[in-house]
Amino acid sequence: MSEQGKSPRVALVTGAARGIGKGIALRLAADGLDVAVNDIEANTDQLKGVADEIAATGRRATTVVADVSDPDAVQSMVEQVAAELGQLNVMVANAGIANVKPLLESTPEEFDHLMSINLRGVYLCYTAAAKQMIKQGDGGKIIGAASIVAYRPFPLLGPYSASKWAVRGLTQAAAMEWAQHGITVNAYCPGIVGTAMWDYIDEKLAENEGLRKGAAIEKYSELIHLGRVSVPEDVASFVSYLASPDSDYMTGQSVMIDGGIQFS
Ligand code: NAD
Repeated sequence: MSEQGKSPRVALVTGAARGIGKGIALRLAADGLDVAVNDIEANTDQLKGVADEIAATGRRATTVVADVSDPDAVQSMVEQVAAELGQLNVMVANAGIANVKPLLESTPEEFDHLMSINLRGVYLCYTAAAKQMIKQGDGGKIIGAASIVAYRPFPLLGPYSASKWAVRGLTQAAAMEWAQHGITVNAYCPGIVGTAMWDYIDEKLAENEGLRKGAAIEKYSELIHLGRVSVPEDVASFVSYLASPDSDYMTGQSVMIDGGIQFS
């Protein structure tokens, strides 16, 4: 949707150096928003590349290096975006990690680390964004990364599944509390998206099942009605809708974009 003629809205996308986050950032820029992109320090160069791609489209772009599990860093990130781009209207809490192993082999430390990014990170981004939007007094769109495993477990993704299930609950709770401020809160639930994260999951699943690399993705692809795994743009087009006024009457939802995958 073109927003020409109006003061551009501003989006912040976390975990945007690559994969789904990058796809979302580029799509929101194409929709006419100015976009701040976030990732961890190790991905600074890739992050700058994404900001350059956005700037080349004529939209304003800025980069914020921050770990979303760190409360002070998340608060500073939101303040920096509001200071540099004037406001914050759309928060996309996309950053996440996966850990593939049987529950009985997972450690409490690995569990805590995963939760600190996938759940606490989303909570920190949701609340920091909501405070900023309430201060601005003009509503807003808060969007989180869940997954199809927020509805049913997938092999060897126990803690990951628990984190995404919790994002679904958090999204409903936040939607209820912040509706009075004109803020909608929704989440997207991708199926299999061909990114670095899925490459890692595929490799671990293949290892566990004694298959060659690539065999796990072929096996799970056969369960997708639409006959292919998705690309970041498939997810980004739905996030574009969630970020736009077209979705103003939708809140508290976690929606599957999975090509109709059937498993377990
Ligand atoms: P990805 O690994 O390709 O990209 C994730 C990005 O998040 C990376 O750039 C990474 O550096 C960044 N990140 C990780 N920890 C961070 C932190 N603490 N602070 C800031 N940034 C951090 O993954 P992706 O496939 O693009 O996944 C994006 C989101 O979508 C994740 O939340 C993921 O769980 C979810 N998801 C992915 C799939 C899939 O099949 N790929 C399916 C369902 C849900």
